Amino acid sequence: MENLHYSRLSPFLFLFLLLSTQTQTQQQQDTPITRFQRYLQINTAHPNPDYSSAISFLKTQAEALNLQVQTLHFTPNKDKPILLLTWLGSNPSLPSLLFNSHLDSVPAEPSKWSQPPFSAVRSSDGLIYARGAQDDKCIAIQYLEAIRNLKANHFSPVRTVHVSYVPDEEIGGSDGAAKFVGSKEFEDLNVGFVLDEGQASPGDEFRVFYADRTPWNVIIQSKGTPGHGSRLYDNSAMENLMKSIEVVSRFRESQFDVVKAGKAAFSEVISVSPVYVKAGIPSPTGFVMNMQPSEAEAGFNLRLPPTADPDFLRRRIAEEWAPETRNMTYQIKENGPIRDCKGRPLLTPTNNSNPWWSVFQQAITAVGGKLAKPEILASTTDARFIRQLGIPALGFSPMANTPILLHEHDEFLKDTVYLKGIEWRWNHEFLFRGPWLISIIL
Ligand SMILES: [Zn+2]
Repeated sequence: MENLHYSRLSPFLFLFLLLSTQTQTQQQQDTPITRFQRYLQINTAHPNPDYSSAISFLKTQAEALNLQVQTLHFTPNKDKPILLLTWLGSNPSLPSLLFNSHLDSVPAEPSKWSQPPFSAVRSSDGLIYARGAQDDKCIAIQYLEAIRNLKANHFSPVRTVHVSYVPDEEIGGSDGAAKFVGSKEFEDLNVGFVLDEGQASPGDEFRVFYADRTPWNVIIQSKGTPGHGSRLYDNSAMENLMKSIEVVSRFRESQFDVVKAGKAAFSEVISVSPVYVKAGIPSPTGFVMNMQPSEAEAGFNLRLPPTADPDFLRRRIAEEWAPETRNMTYQIKENGPIRDCKGRPLLTPTNNSNPWWSVFQQAITAVGGKLAKPEILASTTDARFIRQLGIPALGFSPMANTPILLHEHDEFLKDTVYLKGIEWRWNHEFLFRGPWLISIIL
């Protein structure tokens, strides 16, 4: 009877054992590393980022953590979703904290990678290869893992904590962070402080960024009388353009000399990069060589630190780079302001005037971390939209002893560095608490 009973049950027992083994394996595989790998495997590279898969993955993660979940849409065809997660604080009237990252990444050329860029393969020495591993899917998952750890430790924040995932950062953010930050929904969050992406640090100090540089595209154009290639005459279009290029080059060198002399970091000066020159009359074999053209044009990409004086530069362009007296015209496309809504330089103070800064520093040193001198980021991130509102925002991706591989082939992040980053995030509970801050911020 016993035996019969057993044999009748055995298929069920077998199935039970099989299922429980599978569950166990799945549980073993559901780790901070595998969750990071799964997010990296979602191809959100331009030009066709798969935002809906990324959002649904993050949503599932957030729901498992009992966070409030909202998907916001600010474009008519709802193809640029923003995911907003909320962990309600015990005093929701206090200014909240926002942890931001972008969903998208730049494209990858698979043939130039040693691993498929969306496989998130982990090598035997722990390197996780994927487009977005550093920029910036690491922080996206680290925020969630930190919350998971805090919740597991029965921590509950005083302030409300929000986590946002925005589209289109890599293509300028105009349909992503710019729309979100300008919305009523954002205003209602009453954000007091923001952490956004930073960059890897090859040394053992963590890097933190308090400002971005603002890009300007400057096009200068000249017009002149056309003439035979054999003639020498004044005010030809090319002559006028060449004079301007000399002036621009001198300005570029003056900025570069400051960097070369070690008096400023590369990101603290105005950089000027010549990007194109357009002139000449095309012929089937190239250009007509015995004719001086009547029009010529050159384009420059400039990057202005928040300490630069935009009015001074605008005047300089009008008077020296493209003066009317030399038949020149110009266009400046300013990609964002370099002053905030109150007319202050677009930067987050990294001194005692900013109480969040002290708390941030404290959170790093409390876990034995070293912080490098705060930097201006040479390029731009979504943090600029937040700073524009006068809200303090720091760029911080905790990746020490890591080569800077954003936008490069074979982008990777070492597993131990990624895990250490969760520990840092965990220690941001300083930010969550900070009761002494509350009165100052309010
Ligand atoms: Zn990024």
